[in-house]
Formats: sequence, C-alpha cells, structure tokens
Amino acid sequence: MTLLPNRSKVLTILLTSCFASGVAYAVKPIDAKAQEWGYGGAVNPTRWEELSSKYSTCETGNAQSPINIQQVAETNLPRINFDYQPTPLEVVNNGHTIKVNYEPGSSIQLNGQQYELKQFHFHTPSEHRIEGTASAMEMHFVHKNQAGDIAVVAALMKEGNSNPALEKIWEDLPAEREKKKSDTSIDASRFLPQDRAYYNYTGSLTSPPCSEGVNWLVLETPIEASQEQIEKFMELYSVNARPVQPLNGRQIQLKE
Ligand SMILES: [Zn+2]
Repeated sequence: MTLLPNRSKVLTILLTSCFASGVAYAVKPIDAKAQEWGYGGAVNPTRWEELSSKYSTCETGNAQSPINIQQVAETNLPRINFDYQPTPLEVVNNGHTIKVNYEPGSSIQLNGQQYELKQFHFHTPSEHRIEGTASAMEMHFVHKNQAGDIAVVAALMKEGNSNPALEKIWEDLPAEREKKKSDTSIDASRFLPQDRAYYNYTGSLTSPPCSEGVNWLVLETPIEASQEQIEKFMELYSVNARPVQPLNGRQIQLKE
C-alpha cells in the first residue's frame, strides 16, 4: 500500500486553493488534515468554523472552552482519584502542539466512572484564565470513558523552577509532524500538584471540531516550569491557545 497518490492529490488541492485565494503560503507535503486550522493568520480561531462544515460547533456552540474562571461556587464534588502509571515515552509534534501518547492502563476515577488517560499535551499561553489572568502554559490530560465521554484534567503552568518531568520530554523534541519513541518511560503523575483541588464545568474541546459535553477539571494549584523550558516550547509554538469563550450562564464549581 502506498500513500503517495493520496498525498500528491492533497498537495494539488492545497496548491490550487492557495493560488486561487492569492495567499502566498509555503506549502509542505504533509498531512493536510492537520494543516487546516491554526492560531494565526487566515486560519485563526475566529475563522475555524469557515474552514470545514465539521467545525460549525466552534461558532454555534453555547458551551465552549476555554473560559475565564471566576465567581465559582464551592461545592461537595467528589475527589479525582488518579491512577497514572508510567508509559513508554512517545512524543508527537502534530503541527498544533507537543503531545505525549499514553498506553492503556492509566486512568482517573470520578463519580464512580473510570476515564482512561489517552494523551497529554501543552498550550501557551494558558487557555483557561483565573480571574482574567492567563498562566505561561497549560497542560491537558485527555481521558475517555467506555461510553466515549471526554474528561480533561488541566494543569496551569507558571514560570518558576525547572520541571524535571518536563525535561525528559523537552530534551528530544520531534520536528514538526514527526513522532519520536524513546527507550525511557514517562509518568504523568509526576506533573500533578500535591493539592488536587479543582474547578469543574462542562465545556468543549478547545480545538476543532470543538465538540461539547467535555467534563473539565481545572486544577486550582498551578505547576511550574522554568523560563528556559517555556521558551523552548515557544520556539516551536509561540501561541497555541484558543481565546476564552462566553460562559453563557454555565456554573463553575470548586472542589477544595
Ligand atoms: Zn488542549
């Protein structure tokens, strides 16, 4: 099986559409699916819904993410029980972020439901804001339960001490659209703050197709990364954060 005919077809379409619109893009022979949205220029977050009919929720949805977290209600939410195990380190630079894939066997328990950890990835600056203030970065731990419901644990990252868990990933970052598998393993639990208090609200994926019904668990305590570590990510992605979305009457709860 060869991917070549497909790729050249995709490239032709890309070239045609770029020339047709008069935009001078440098077109690379890469996965066109991942190329179709971004954070700046003609494909910035305010234009996502124009890029594909599949992305209409980005515009029409009324429970979108991220949000500015304020006016929270303290409630009796259950704790998140983390059961993260080490996984072989596989890092992907997918053209939107740096993503670390997770093998089956790590999960969180919430409300008697088990959500399997699928991957974690990074944004800069943070997507969620606290009382209007963004952090330097944000990590998203993406989970799915058996029914396919998504729960994302978010850890805000502020500038501070060097993060040893991050160093393992950062020391050998793949080039754009590349994947690197290494002999070492990584343990997602090493990123978590000791205090697991969290904000909870219902929102969406923060990237196309912006699907709703996502259970957001934003940890109240930020974690740290050094200025050098933050800058290293910004060399690849200077901005990869969607702006905050209207709350539309949604409630934000805090579990201390
Ligand atoms: Zn994310």
